[in-house]
Amino acid sequence: MRTRGAILVVEGAGRPYAISRPLKILDIELDPPGPTEALVRIGAAGLCHSDLSVIEGNRPRPLPMLLGHEAAGIVVSVGQDVHGLDVGDHVITTFVPACRLCESCRSGRPALCEPGNASNVAGTLLSGERRIHLGDRVINHHVGISAFAEYAVISAKSLVKVPAALPFDVAAAFGCAVITGVGAAINAAQVEPGMAVAVIGLGGVGMAAVMGARAVGASPIVAIDLNPDKLSIAAEFGATATFQASQPDLIAAVRATTAGGVDAALEMAGSVQALNIAWAITRRGGTTVTSGLPRSDSMASYSPAQLVAEERILRGSYLGSGDPTNDVPKYIGWYQQGRLPVERLISSHLLLDDINSGMDLLASASGLRHMVSFEE
Ligand SMILES: [Zn+2]
Ligand SMILES: [Zn+2]
Repeated sequence: MRTRGAILVVEGAGRPYAISRPLKILDIELDPPGPTEALVRIGAAGLCHSDLSVIEGNRPRPLPMLLGHEAAGIVVSVGQDVHGLDVGDHVITTFVPACRLCESCRSGRPALCEPGNASNVAGTLLSGERRIHLGDRVINHHVGISAFAEYAVISAKSLVKVPAALPFDVAAAFGCAVITGVGAAINAAQVEPGMAVAVIGLGGVGMAAVMGARAVGASPIVAIDLNPDKLSIAAEFGATATFQASQPDLIAAVRATTAGGVDAALEMAGSVQALNIAWAITRRGGTTVTSGLPRSDSMASYSPAQLVAEERILRGSYLGSGDPTNDVPKYIGWYQQGRLPVERLISSHLLLDDINSGMDLLASASGLRHMVSFEE
């Protein structure tokens, strides 16, 4: 079928993107879904830093690529071997397909799915196929999804069914921002009632982590960012103390507020500086989680002696360190109870044709989630 999508042809374009237009909105040809795939009409797709990293060239991917990985939509058709998904179902996308057969999947860690991560790096669906064409050129998929388009062909293993009552923009945010941020707090840092938690970096994922910490009763909750506007928003989401990251005595101030440091510090900014802050404000015996994905050539250092003598834990968290098929319904339940106000993560809506301006908003750290909305 013919449809339209936002394709990145070269990385490293200069800003403003509204002028350089790294994403070209083009007519594309979509193949029908293969046996294990579904055709999805996209309702909303969020602009995420992982999309921006590909545009900037910080996460090199095979080009040309149709970007977009945080989306919600309606199933239009399914392949013959798809079970548990029917035409008309509302679904969200998750950015690692889970084969359910490899060692990682079978040990309950589908974010580490081996074939899923390999196909993401290759720019294909889990089946190894690419279903998008531009004339005679084959276009790569972005982490098995490519949702900046009116329609997408996606592996059923990248989709989670959600209630039809959920608005598309809210539903989309569960696929990346919510699952990553809330999961980092709950699954990776194992935040429990009364634990002192800090979140460094308050984009969509960081704010979701603040909400998640609040939802499970963490206290105090410290929020840290360079942008004072984001600190006020974090306070509305449940942060009990906020600090500007540029404050000269930041580490001492956080330690003073939290009686020596936090039990869990979550790095959500994607920078080594933020990780260093997270490490420095974690208390003895505490856990430092990094989920922000700095450039792949970044290096960090820490004291192994401190790691030992203070029984510290330093861990990475990808896709919320859980299983989206269990976690997404759980988090949607919390949203429905008012414990996870995900709708407040959405700062603006834009049309596919204006996606480059949206990337400017994201690059300038303005707002939380900007959503491409598609007409009926
Ligand atoms: Zn994302
Ligand atoms: Zn797997």
